[in-house]
Amino acid sequence: MCPQGRCWRAGCKEKLNAEQRTKNESTEYSRYETSMMLTYEQARDTVIEQVGKKRGPRAIVNVSVWDALGFVLAQEIKTDREYPPFDRSTRDGYALRSNEAGPGAQLKCVGEIKAGDTVRESLVAGTCVQIMTGAAVPAGADAVVMIEQTQREGDRVRFERAARARQNIVSRGSEAAAGQTILSPGMRLGYAELALAAQVGAVQLQCAQRPRIAILSTGDEVVLVDENPGAFQIRNSNSVSLAAQVRIAGGEPVVLGNAADQAEELGEKIERGLKEDALVLSGGVSMGKYDLVESVLKAMGAEFFFDAVAIRPGKPAVFGMCQGKPVLGLPGNPVSTMVTFELFVAPAIDLLSGAEARKLPLVEARLAAALNEKPGLAHFLPARIEWRGTIAEVKALPWQGSGDIATLAKANCFLVVPAEREKIEVGESVSVLLRKDIV
Ligand code: AMP
Ligand code: MG
Repeated sequence: MCPQGRCWRAGCKEKLNAEQRTKNESTEYSRYETSMMLTYEQARDTVIEQVGKKRGPRAIVNVSVWDALGFVLAQEIKTDREYPPFDRSTRDGYALRSNEAGPGAQLKCVGEIKAGDTVRESLVAGTCVQIMTGAAVPAGADAVVMIEQTQREGDRVRFERAARARQNIVSRGSEAAAGQTILSPGMRLGYAELALAAQVGAVQLQCAQRPRIAILSTGDEVVLVDENPGAFQIRNSNSVSLAAQVRIAGGEPVVLGNAADQAEELGEKIERGLKEDALVLSGGVSMGKYDLVESVLKAMGAEFFFDAVAIRPGKPAVFGMCQGKPVLGLPGNPVSTMVTFELFVAPAIDLLSGAEARKLPLVEARLAAALNEKPGLAHFLPARIEWRGTIAEVKALPWQGSGDIATLAKANCFLVVPAEREKIEVGESVSVLLRKDIV
């Protein structure tokens, strides 16, 4: 007995019934035949150009500085005062007049200044004051000598060497002037930017609303991750990796689940996805008889800019605009989905977030094991990059192809083999696409 017509035998009645149903629903969706194969650089530029054209002003949200990591700033942040606000000592030691600290010189210590102490009085000539890191240097003093270079007996301090004017002092206003713009609209907020905002008292930040990215997987074989798959079914791992990648890229994932390889259901779920800022699909974009994503999108008015990219894994990736929204159809093989997301979806999310598209995190490394790949397509091979001192070495990992998530979970980068290269020898310099979430 065939469960839901899923038998492989050509004459099986249950299967024929199921096929007839699919056919009735799908006649107007015969595979959309085009071939717009681009290099991955061209494909990426195309996404950036087209999404760049469409992006409008983002809605603005108020975000606490504690929660704003990864948001894109939508306002100017200015300093509330000079930074540092006073001449700041960068050492524990003695503040003095620099011309009074030659080798063997002795000065009377007249007190101590802790970080946070109010400092109003000037230092009198012939004296010094003990000072702590972060404390204000009094007027009259123009240098701090670190404690390690002094000897103290009672209130007398002896100095071992000469002092330079301004040594161990960061001058008032030298980091930023009062009212100076220190963060601008379009900047992405990382930990340093958030600390800078906090430093000037900006605890509520006006940020661009994160773009909502609909995620829709496709495939008759795919079940939810918390369901028990049948013997020939698989869990929807792509929905999880895509949601994580969307978050890392600065978007808000809207997970729509899975659509069967059937035009009507696919159409309905795509329609739902097009309500968000962009739609990312996985699966259903290859040459198979039940790969219906492109034809369904076409029937919904999509304009495609490419439907193949000269890469492996990830060749069938599709990009178009449908009802004014960017749509990226990624191949369903998990490693293909992950690679094509990094190449084509991440820059779209940057632009939809109100920022510029970030460059790919490519670095050069020394090849540690020779490679022999079929030329014609650029390869993105799961690999490990390791640093020996400052020298980076990279080695591709043995893998079972683009369904092999287990190998990718051991990798920390993709080794990029250019389309025209076949053999690459040990010691040659190669490009490596870092996995930003791990390295
Ligand atoms: P497709 O791109 O639809 O031809 O699918 C290619 C391969 O990826 C097939 O082996 C699928 O079973 C697998 N696949 C498709 N969608 C998913 C998914 N959401 N999660 C994990 N694997 C998937
Ligand atoms: Mg499929």
